[in-house]
Amino acid sequence: MHVVQTIEGFRKALDAERAQGRVVGLVPTMGALHDGHLSLLRRAGAECDVVAVTVFVNPLQFEHADDLASYPRDLAADAAMAAGAGVHHLFAPSAAEMHPGEMLTRVAVARLGDGMEGSCRPGHFEGVATVVTKLFAIAGACRAYFGEKDYQQLTVVRRLVSDLSFPVEVVACPTVRAPDGLALSSRNVHLSGAERAAAPVLHRALAAGAAAVERGESRPALVSLAMARIISQEPLATLEYAEVLEEDLRWRLLVAARIGNVRLIDNIEVQAP
Ligand code: AMP
Repeated sequence: MHVVQTIEGFRKALDAERAQGRVVGLVPTMGALHDGHLSLLRRAGAECDVVAVTVFVNPLQFEHADDLASYPRDLAADAAMAAGAGVHHLFAPSAAEMHPGEMLTRVAVARLGDGMEGSCRPGHFEGVATVVTKLFAIAGACRAYFGEKDYQQLTVVRRLVSDLSFPVEVVACPTVRAPDGLALSSRNVHLSGAERAAAPVLHRALAAGAAAVERGESRPALVSLAMARIISQEPLATLEYAEVLEEDLRWRLLVAARIGNVRLIDNIEVQAP
């Protein structure tokens, strides 16, 4: 595996792959890789000729300095995991490499980034859209793999690719969960034992919402209430939102909660009632 820290080096490496006729699979991450990331790497490996993973904790998408500072980082472990997954190129730029000067340019996707994560984390999606735009500008034509776990992010990225005509095909990958239903997340390492035991409440809330829809509940507000109720019954959890997105024949149920100091999100898709 080729580890590269410079924008120029990464760009040249992927240009050279494409010059050989190879299709590049790109997996943008913030590192602290887990089995959720691994599923994206494997999918990219199955569908593309070469796989490139990026590991960059993007300061633009963090609202609070302490959240940015405490975000887990372990490049050696990430490199071992990526190499084990058959990754060809690992791009791990420093913050100075990505942002040598003040970053005056921002990319904002209107409306899709409002509400839910956008309301709870002001500026978050602008930070995400900006770094993803920069990574696409560096990487060039590729298939880019994103997890459904960050569903609103996926909608924002899809829209920016289409609005700005990036030569990128966005591929959505299903959420990987622990056996008890907790969606894998780099932030899960910050959960204490008791908090970890409480954390599957997000998935239970989604399951309760799905069950309500299956029983024929067609009022989104009542489905949201059913999910919110489950989370409010867990003493260690503080609900941030429980929402339903109505999309044609399918509904997307989404929840966010704090367990102690750790903010967790999850979502599932259900058939519309
Ligand atoms: P992150 O490093 O948290 O920014 O995530 C990098 C990519 O991995 C994003 O596209 C996430 O949606 C995806 N991802 C994170 N956790 C999971 C998971 N449990 N299952 C599937 N994809 C995930």
